[in-house]
Amino acid sequence: MPGAAELLSSVFGFSEFRPGQAEIVDAVMAGQHTLAIMPTGGGKSLCFQLPALCRDGVTVVISPLIALMRDQVRGLREAGVAAGALTSGNTEEETEEVFRALDEGVLKLLYMAPERLSAGGTLNLLRRIGVSLIAVDEAHCVSQWGHDFRPDYLRIGELRRSLNVPLAAFTATADAETRAEIVTRLFDGVQPETFLRGFDRPNIHLAFEVKDSPRRQILDFADARKGQSGIVYCGTRAKTESLAAALREAGHSACHYHGGMEAEPRREVEARFQREDGLIVVATVAFGMGVDKPDIRWVAHADLPKSIEGYYQEIGRAGRDGAPAETLTLYGPEDIRLRRSQIDESPAPAERRAADHARLNALLGLAEALTCRRQTLLGYFGEEAQPCGTCDLCDRPAEAFDGTEAVRKALSAILRTGEYFGAGHLIDILTGNGTDKVKARSHDALPTFGVGREFDRRQWQAIFRQMMGHDLVRPDPERHGALRMTEAARPILRGEAGIELRRDTIRKASSARPAVK
Ligand code: ADP
Ligand code: ZN
Repeated sequence: MPGAAELLSSVFGFSEFRPGQAEIVDAVMAGQHTLAIMPTGGGKSLCFQLPALCRDGVTVVISPLIALMRDQVRGLREAGVAAGALTSGNTEEETEEVFRALDEGVLKLLYMAPERLSAGGTLNLLRRIGVSLIAVDEAHCVSQWGHDFRPDYLRIGELRRSLNVPLAAFTATADAETRAEIVTRLFDGVQPETFLRGFDRPNIHLAFEVKDSPRRQILDFADARKGQSGIVYCGTRAKTESLAAALREAGHSACHYHGGMEAEPRREVEARFQREDGLIVVATVAFGMGVDKPDIRWVAHADLPKSIEGYYQEIGRAGRDGAPAETLTLYGPEDIRLRRSQIDESPAPAERRAADHARLNALLGLAEALTCRRQTLLGYFGEEAQPCGTCDLCDRPAEAFDGTEAVRKALSAILRTGEYFGAGHLIDILTGNGTDKVKARSHDALPTFGVGREFDRRQWQAIFRQMMGHDLVRPDPERHGALRMTEAARPILRGEAGIELRRDTIRKASSARPAVK
């Protein structure tokens, strides 16, 4: 039987769990009664669908919304999972097909509208087919005092008692009274394993910086937090070793950790980190799963993580004790290039790669955000939030400027040169820099030559980086370094849409700090 992580990727096509999912999946898989309160869009359905595949027998899913049930059944079937629904919206054939699959013992998930529970014969049917888990979506519908009360939900407790199987209840409604009512009605008052989590971790300060002199930036960040336990995540194994050495040289207590190390030294690092105060572990993402240290005071990313989920999970290791913790994520055009090419080169099917690009885009959107990062981050997970006051953009609002003209010029340079060149050459053209390469290709004769002199080289680099961040241009996987325009850029090129860019990152890049302090 494949493990949860493998099913997550092979069946659902996700490379990692969303916040909170892994713990809930574990509990449900282990057959515990569970109550999970997750924000809408947080990914609740996976928390019963995945365990349903690992457990013997059928998982019965009670859900109040027929359209939603049908969507989920369709999605599961497309992923090759035997799922069916018994609802009043069924055609006769659909219902017959469900019964046939039940008789053959192949159905894994049976969706059912609550009304069905009061229909004669349902209990006998469910007894006969070997139900091993009951999942209840929108569990707050059992609350008589709420807006969504569904009287038929009151029968679920009885169903659980009579089948005597674990029950997993899910809802986005978190208030304490509703919770208590769910516990009373679905679990006969016996407290289930409860997961209550919005995604916000308000004690964690969020910050991004454009890579300028990256090693210096990490050292500065660590210096300001000397003696505190922290993690630095790096994109490569080699970098964990060199950066750990640089930190030690700067007087820090630091060691490296990556998946290429033997089990024994890895365990040693984990044990040291747990035990010692003020140790810095410089690691790849291999470090973290087994780490349960509540007082990690900071997490830095020396390279851009691969997705917004990964980012959230990694920064989330800081400040589990609830005390203030700080994070810093560095990124630059090379990171974007690397992450894009990793996705392009993966053997995953095309839709999966497209989804991975979209998830990377979400992270880049966060990196290039103009307003509160927490709002952007939580918004991605479907949670609304007020400006947080504990992120770099709340501390110091970003200055935006209308970048439409600049972006159009850049796009025009890309198109007029056949989408064949990288940012360096394009910037030469825009700034009117007649290099040998420019002259050899007669690019100094283009109408675009020299039209971007209002920005200097570093400013153009920042504009190109932001264009990559907004997914207006992508590196061409076939031609190293060459930038191609994406569909998203078309409205800007045609003058149908404008775009705001950040000023501060540009200014910062141009006021280059001294290499050595
Ligand atoms: P909820 O029922 O909590 O509102 P859903 O279960 O419908 O949320 O999931 C919301 C969205 O999140 C869906 O589009 C789903 O495909 C996506 N999703 C769920 N889990 C993951 C994951 N681990 N990685 C990426 N996307 C996910
Ligand atoms: Zn904020």
